[in-house]
Amino acid sequence: MAQDLRRSVLVLDYFAERSNLEDTLVTTVAQRLPDLERLLLEAGRPDLAEQLTTLEIRGPCECSVEGCESFYTQAPMKRWFRRGRQVPVGDYVVDTIDGEIVFVEVLRH
Ligand SMILES: [Zn+2]
Repeated sequence: MAQDLRRSVLVLDYFAERSNLEDTLVTTVAQRLPDLERLLLEAGRPDLAEQLTTLEIRGPCECSVEGCESFYTQAPMKRWFRRGRQVPVGDYVVDTIDGEIVFVEVLRH
C-alpha cells in the first residue's frame, strides 16, 4: 500500500515536470526523433543531420490520417512540394527546400 502511494507521487511529479518543460521550451527535431540524425549521417547527408539540434517543430501535419506523427519545421507553404526535394531515410522522409528541412514525414505509427 505504502509502495503504491509512493509510485503515484512519482508519476505525478513526472507529468508536472513534463508540462513545465513544454511551456518554456520548444521541441526540436532532435528531441522528437533521436534516431534521425544517425540515419541522415548514414545516408550521407551531414548537412541535414546538423540542422536537427536547432530545428524547431512548428506544427503537426494537417492530413487526416489517424496517428500521423509528421510535422512541419517551417511555416507551411504549398510551393514547397514543387521546388522541394524528398530524402527518404529509415522510417522518415525529410522534405527539404534549398537544403533546409521544412517537413518531416513519419511513416511508422
Ligand atoms: Zn499527416
